[in-house]
Amino acid sequence: MKITFLGTGVAVSLAEKAQQSILIEDDRLVLVDCGFGTMLRLQQAGYDVTDLDAVVLTHFHLDHCGELMGILKARWLSGAGKLKIYAPKGAESFHNSFLSASPYLLGKLDFGVLELEDGERFMIGSMRFEARKTRHSLESLGYVINGVLISGDTSAFPELYEDVEVTVHEMSLDFGGRADYHTSPENLAENAESVREAYLIHLYPPAYGNREKIAEFLRKKGVAAEFPDDLEVLSL
Ligand SMILES: [Zn+2]
Ligand SMILES: [Zn+2]
Repeated sequence: MKITFLGTGVAVSLAEKAQQSILIEDDRLVLVDCGFGTMLRLQQAGYDVTDLDAVVLTHFHLDHCGELMGILKARWLSGAGKLKIYAPKGAESFHNSFLSASPYLLGKLDFGVLELEDGERFMIGSMRFEARKTRHSLESLGYVINGVLISGDTSAFPELYEDVEVTVHEMSLDFGGRADYHTSPENLAENAESVREAYLIHLYPPAYGNREKIAEFLRKKGVAAEFPDDLEVLSL
């Protein structure tokens, strides 16, 4: 399984970072989240929106789904077929409100939405997905994909890491951050006991400036942490 970090940023502007977007490639090409900057990064990584087989969304904050309609429109203009979208509850109303605000797209975008429950398992090609409810400020899911957890936005809690050793995880908060809806270094270390490798993304500026200390802290807790940049590739 090949993971390309298209966007490793957050909801505020950061130089060199698109908002969250992760491309997973096996016998299918799947985009997990598509914040602003996704389409540009997809091209830079050598792909086109028409290559996508599915989009899987963690939640409906704009830094995770802002370019979804742009992707659907680009696929329509390029003559691509139906795109399958997997998402938490709220997907239908998100799409309907967007389309009612942009009536020129009504009947043109070709997609099917599957709203997922906590614990739901599904396959995309030969890739095994399991949706796990996360703790965020609105309905949200993380996904375990062939054993690798993509956390989406969440605070860390033990059940999220069941049978997980490798994670692509958010680290929004710096040391001492209040981990109600997002993750801090201490919060991850206390809850992710089984995790050995963490690829940390979605860092707000205070945490981003403290990457070395965060890596050192987690290393002492038995977790090897890395901070991938946009367009880095990981083969697992
Ligand atoms: Zn969020
Ligand atoms: Zn976010």
